[in-house]
Amino acid sequence: MATGNINVTAENIFPIIKKFLYSDHEIFLRELISNATDATLKLKHLSTLGEIKGDIGTPMLEIKVDKDKKEIRIIDQGIGMTGEEVEKYINQVAFSGAEEFVEKYKDKVEDSGIIGHFGLGFYSSFMVAERVEIFSKSFQEGSKAVRWECDGSPQYTLEETDRTERGTEIVLHVDDESLEFLEESRINELLNKYNKFMPIPIKFGTKEETLPLPEGAAEDAVAEKITVDNIVNNPNPAWTKSPTELKDEDYKSFYRELYPMQFEEPLFNIHLNVDYPFNLTGILYFPKLSKSVDPSKDKIQLYQNQVFVTDNVEGIVPDFLQMLRGVIDSPDIPLNVSRSYLQADGAVKKISSYITRKVADKLISLFKNDREGFEAKWDDIKVIIEYGMLSEEKFFEKSDKFALFPTVDNKYYTFAELEEKIKPAQTDKDDKTIILYASDAKAQHSYIDAAKEKGYEVLLLDSPIVSHLIQKLEGTKENVQFVRVDSDHIDNLIKKDEEKISKLSDEEKETLKPIIEEVIPKETYTVQLEAMDSNANPFMITQPEFMRRMKEMQATGGGGMMGMGNFPDMYNLVVNTNNELVGEILNTKTKKKQERLIQQAFDLAKLSQGLLQGEELTEFIKRSYQMVK
Ligand code: ADP
Repeated sequence: MATGNINVTAENIFPIIKKFLYSDHEIFLRELISNATDATLKLKHLSTLGEIKGDIGTPMLEIKVDKDKKEIRIIDQGIGMTGEEVEKYINQVAFSGAEEFVEKYKDKVEDSGIIGHFGLGFYSSFMVAERVEIFSKSFQEGSKAVRWECDGSPQYTLEETDRTERGTEIVLHVDDESLEFLEESRINELLNKYNKFMPIPIKFGTKEETLPLPEGAAEDAVAEKITVDNIVNNPNPAWTKSPTELKDEDYKSFYRELYPMQFEEPLFNIHLNVDYPFNLTGILYFPKLSKSVDPSKDKIQLYQNQVFVTDNVEGIVPDFLQMLRGVIDSPDIPLNVSRSYLQADGAVKKISSYITRKVADKLISLFKNDREGFEAKWDDIKVIIEYGMLSEEKFFEKSDKFALFPTVDNKYYTFAELEEKIKPAQTDKDDKTIILYASDAKAQHSYIDAAKEKGYEVLLLDSPIVSHLIQKLEGTKENVQFVRVDSDHIDNLIKKDEEKISKLSDEEKETLKPIIEEVIPKETYTVQLEAMDSNANPFMITQPEFMRRMKEMQATGGGGMMGMGNFPDMYNLVVNTNNELVGEILNTKTKKKQERLIQQAFDLAKLSQGLLQGEELTEFIKRSYQMVK
């Protein structure tokens, strides 16, 4: 038997490890299972190289909990360690790893920027145990089994023991603050969180299985029950397989495996698979974005070699794809670093742009291969795509091939198709192509109607960031301009050369304007006299495009237009000088009747914009009843 001192500075280290990130104590199990997995994978590797004689069987890991003895055991059938290896790997290597880790992070315990807490390795067992034993027997022929023990002080014991099975068994003597980890449910929770897809089968307890009845069994035959190992993980998850091995159903069932509480099926998936210049596999899913979607739940999960690390993929996956679901597995993502470092890291940048490219390529192929299906999905995916077009230049360039612009009549155009379709009718006298859009087909119905009457197409653009997107499109496409249908009278939206004749003379107009201005609230409405079709409405309320768009952009997080959001809403009251009623207003002799006509027409215009509410609406209804009496 040998005893020794681990290292002089150890005195400072154990207390730090013990206190280290209180909420993160649970990672000890992940760390120990990772070590056990590595040892087993090494064994398998040596076996395929022919360096181990005989059959190694199907090695597994096992977790055992003994509540009475306050013990947790992590058992593997991997390569094991000789006494010298324990000296070297546990007392020196593992220790220096722990030391380095603590040095680096002792001041940053509060730094939420650290992702995961890899690197602490074996010594994380002291976060939950007052005493740790290692029993190990190396695969090497003739090697003697050893027992190592340490109670958290710098002193350890190392001696020979009579274990006969190859592999390592770690025994944690759980301390009184960590008794929660002796609960089966807590261990199951951890296994499910971190080890669901580990590459080596993990046994935790047993379960009963009912055998199928033999064919032709008697009606009252009782099915036989047997006790089998309870394996808690799936060692071969879908993302580790080649896309050619997988059918659509396999992707869907993996989605259910990942998110058992998610009942909605995903729209489609993207299989990621690269090994140069970085290693990355994974499957991303476009979810159906229902109203109840909670972005903080069921997020993309990051793995390293099938070990769960985190579901915070900020910096690794571009922002606009954070609403996707699925798995990314890459050993090349540095973990013990802050977010700002991560974002500056070259490899991580490449990963992020690779993911963007793969998503764009998938969208292109979906659009090409099944346009109808793609159009049907558009409503569910548009927010993600539009956000991507705004935030990632490369994605914006590619989006020309799949981004759709739906009309109020449910037709879907690409930008190029739209331009070609509308150019002849919707080019104004200055040679600009005017794209008309609505944000709400019901509320803006009368304006849409007026536009359709002229043979114009009206898009339905109703996602929250659309004002930013059209701003960007106007800046990148040549000679196009977007205007919402209710931002002016239709003849002004797309100005043609034709001169409209006004029934009212200039003097009459000059008389009329102040009469109307006296009745309507001048602070909010600007009167604009227009010679329009005689059958177009007499009064109409519009809101100029520029001001409204800037306000919308600011409300949804656009910089540059500081303070714009605080401006009150301003409208124009367009008065059609060719409408009969307007002539009547002008020629009405009694002031009171004139005012009533103006008020009534004004209220009707407000009504069609959804602006008539509360007391004004009550007044309007009263007045209307009196007028029809
Ligand atoms: P890391 O795993 O990051 O190298 P650890 O402190 O967890 O650091 O472990 C140090 C070393 O101890 C490992 O690299 C490995 O060589 C050895 N080791 C730990 N656990 C086992 C095990 N279950 N079986 C065999 N060797 C192990």
